[in-house]
Amino acid sequence: MGPSLVLHSAGKSASYSGASASSPNPLPCIHPTLCAKFSFMRNVVILGSGPAGLTAAVYAARANLSPLLIEGWQSGGQLTTTTEVENYPGFAKGIMGPELMKEMRAQAERFGTEFLTGDVSAVGLKTRPFTVTIDGEQTVQTKTLIIATGASAIQIGVKNEARLTGHGVSTCATCDGFFFKGKELIVVGGGDSAMEEATFLTKFATKVSIIHRRDKLRASKIMQDRAVKNEKITFIWNSVVEDILGNDVVTGVRVKNLVTGKVTEVPCAGVFVAIGHRPNTNLFSGQLGMDAKGYIRTTEGTATNVPGVFAAGDVQDSTYRQAVTAAGSGCMAAMDAERFLESGEK
Ligand code: NAP
Repeated sequence: MGPSLVLHSAGKSASYSGASASSPNPLPCIHPTLCAKFSFMRNVVILGSGPAGLTAAVYAARANLSPLLIEGWQSGGQLTTTTEVENYPGFAKGIMGPELMKEMRAQAERFGTEFLTGDVSAVGLKTRPFTVTIDGEQTVQTKTLIIATGASAIQIGVKNEARLTGHGVSTCATCDGFFFKGKELIVVGGGDSAMEEATFLTKFATKVSIIHRRDKLRASKIMQDRAVKNEKITFIWNSVVEDILGNDVVTGVRVKNLVTGKVTEVPCAGVFVAIGHRPNTNLFSGQLGMDAKGYIRTTEGTATNVPGVFAAGDVQDSTYRQAVTAAGSGCMAAMDAERFLESGEK
């Protein structure tokens, strides 16, 4: 069983426009206080607290839809594990990712969004109202659902990776870089994330080696230049990590050169994996249309194949995947949900 639910409320007993406050929740409840709080049909439930979810919350709250946003135990999405965000409009000097998310959350809260912390364990989309179950304990009913559950870091998939995660293997330089002062590190990947992580890690490490499976980087020019010019960063091209070495903590990696076939061991104290992300859509499998990689298919803005269910941000976008595009689609999802409710839910 998961931890008890925590309710973060804007501190207002909002006038829930459109909500049928008198209709009791027929579903089982083991948290009487929370159930009383959520015992009516919601207009909009938003899943996810990254830029897409929080922007949807701002727009839905300002449309008097009294949104309930369900955030996981690690709220804030991927930007909370990034360093400086330089390309989010409005911040000429840049802003740290966690700070940006804090501001977005405060903005959503200011207009009356309610927050419920917990992991969504099931969703029912076959009939309306939709149901959302949190930590297997609390069920909420809603007329519309906005899915903004984002994406999670992909692992390399080698034997010792899971065992050594937290013991030298990480997917978050911002979170764990500090622990590697004066050490040599490996970063795996050739995209913007890998360049950003490697550059950030040079604040602590004596040397950072980027292992990339090709001889060309996927990263944007500016991020490549920054990494290439950094004297502490070296590149190991055309190579893959075959395994991560170490008993209790990481001591090195076994690397295979894909051109020569040669296998070498590279000593290091930490391995930062930055090879992309996978959409968090397992919960919806069999209920919503998805592409081959599991991204939710959307049409006409943010509509999914289930009327009343909308998807925004990285969970439906395998192309742009930027904070600003996620925020934009969150805005669209809230407007789409509002129009759906206004149209009599057709
Ligand atoms: P990405 O662009 O998909 O790059 C993933 C990298 O990992 C690619 O170089 C890929 O190699 C490599 N890779 C994938 N699977 C692998 C495997 N199994 N083994 C070894 N290598 C593997 O992902 P990302 O770097 O996380 O970036 C995602 C999006 O976020 C992008 O749109 C990016 O621009 C954006 N982003 C922006 C910033 C910023 O502007 N500050 C920072 C981070 C991310 P191949 O190149 O061979 O495919």
